[in-house]
Amino acid sequence: MKARQFFIATLKEDPSDAEIVSQKLMIRAGFIKKVAAGIYTWTPLGLRSLRKVEAIVREEMNRAGALELLMPAVQPAELWQESGRWTFYGPELLRFKDRHERDFVIGPTHEEVIADFARREIKSYKQLPKHFYQIQTKFRDEIRPRFGVMRAREFIMKDGYSFHASFADLEREYRNMYDTYTRIFTRLGLEFRAVAADTGSIGGTGSHEFHVIAETGEDTIAYCPTSDYAANVELAEALAPQGDRPEPTAPLTEVATPGVKTIADLVAFLEIPIEQTVKAVVVESEGGEPVLLLLRGDHELNEIKAQKLPGIKNPLTFASEAAIRAAFGAGPGSLGPVGFNGRIIADRTVAKMADFVTGANRDGYHYTGVNIGRDFPEPEVADLRNVVAGDPSPDGKGVLALCKGIEVGHIFQLRTKYSEAMQCTFLDETGAERPMEMGCYGIGVTRILGAAIEQNHDARGIIWPEPIAPFEAVVCPIGATKSPAVAEAAERIYRALSDAGIDVILDDRNERPGAMFADWELIGVPWRLVVSERGLSAGTVEIRHRRAADNMVLPEAEALAQ
Ligand code: ATP
Ligand code: MG
Ligand code: MG
Ligand code: MG
Repeated sequence: MKARQFFIATLKEDPSDAEIVSQKLMIRAGFIKKVAAGIYTWTPLGLRSLRKVEAIVREEMNRAGALELLMPAVQPAELWQESGRWTFYGPELLRFKDRHERDFVIGPTHEEVIADFARREIKSYKQLPKHFYQIQTKFRDEIRPRFGVMRAREFIMKDGYSFHASFADLEREYRNMYDTYTRIFTRLGLEFRAVAADTGSIGGTGSHEFHVIAETGEDTIAYCPTSDYAANVELAEALAPQGDRPEPTAPLTEVATPGVKTIADLVAFLEIPIEQTVKAVVVESEGGEPVLLLLRGDHELNEIKAQKLPGIKNPLTFASEAAIRAAFGAGPGSLGPVGFNGRIIADRTVAKMADFVTGANRDGYHYTGVNIGRDFPEPEVADLRNVVAGDPSPDGKGVLALCKGIEVGHIFQLRTKYSEAMQCTFLDETGAERPMEMGCYGIGVTRILGAAIEQNHDARGIIWPEPIAPFEAVVCPIGATKSPAVAEAAERIYRALSDAGIDVILDDRNERPGAMFADWELIGVPWRLVVSERGLSAGTVEIRHRRAADNMVLPEAEALAQ
């Protein structure tokens, strides 16, 4: 590839609305262009890196025995009604009607479509197991798209779904995927950690997340450096005992809330706008006033808005979790998660500080003064919510350390959740009809590129891991307009590298050296070869790795060998 023919669109200035380094650098280096909030065009440069990530993912998935297919982005509402998620998914699900007034969604994930495919195509245990995957565009109407491609609304995911005749076989495939993901993130050249995402307890194999370790990660990981224990701290909500509604063991005060069945209903009942609300929790302030806290965003305890309950005086706005702690830390409190109609909807950090209302037992009724533990059994989860570095590891093999992570992959044992709801069944050896055991396995393909940059950059720009760099090497001629010998040598070196199968670009733009070097350092190409008059007369070229402090001056043949 030659730079004049290619499309290079670097910017001098950081984009003003970019919050984190990967987002700034991807925009400045010209990998992505913003179209709307959380929606981007991948430039030819960006697409080169994206395709390399996809290729590695695809290769390893194929090697692991999974079969690639391609499902539609647009999905009929009927499938989501069958699984129940039409009601439960919430505002991240983008819904629309076609010209015949039929409901559709743009898929945020594909369990329904694949379960429909499997129930039609797979009838017998003889056709099992099967693992289908795709690399495809998803849409999630994220409450706060940000960080560029890391929390986008439209993004590319590798999503795989496996079907099994037995739980034992699902467990086998789950381990196969755990190993496959480990190979994928190793090949991508990333520092990562697999963490338990289900129970936080040792041996929990129901779900694991793969995190790229980076300061700017939105998730907090607790791990034990002296054992293999690692868990996502932000997991209490995922553990909500949905469906199982424990009965209280002590009398509680019932508060009638007519028509209130969901958080949305509660918020409507309290006359608070729902658009940006994902969690709601009633707490009592130090002065004894109940206050409804609406927590915005999935993980965003740093942006918490406290709103009034009817009859409460001052709405409170807190900027941070620390502010919440400061405001409520000394207040009355019961320990435990906050529930609403059986779902744990608040974070323990907040819940611990307050006395609360919960609606765990009867639709349309809520209880005040609930004390989880006394009135309801404590959920069986390791409480990592308030963990600090140095706490004992739950596996008893050391103490915990904390770090920040970016979730780039997630594997789940779904068991028969979808296959039962959607009658995805097969006939076993005895001729009996049984629901298939299902697993699902996601990788955030586009997010990986942002995560890789968070981990690999310096003041001058991106430092791509070689396997996902848009080009592995760039040839920079100096003064080629004036010196035919330089132009000729650069062309010769460029050809030799290309012929050797190296993904190389020749910078034939005739830029001044400073500007030319700055561009390639910003773009993050791992190897730079500089061809100059001076070098030619000595029979050498300068070669430098993006991470190295100095040039190596090598004879041309040796430089090529590098
Ligand atoms: P998060 O916790 O970051 O919101 P998630 O748990 O909702 O992610 P999954 O449903 O597990 O995401 O989807 C599989 C993978 O898709 C995630 O591990 C992540 O890498 C990627 N992903 C999810 N949401 C986004 C997004 N908004 N933008 C880019 N990638 C995403
Ligand atoms: Mg999410
Ligand atoms: Mg997550
Ligand atoms: Mg996840």
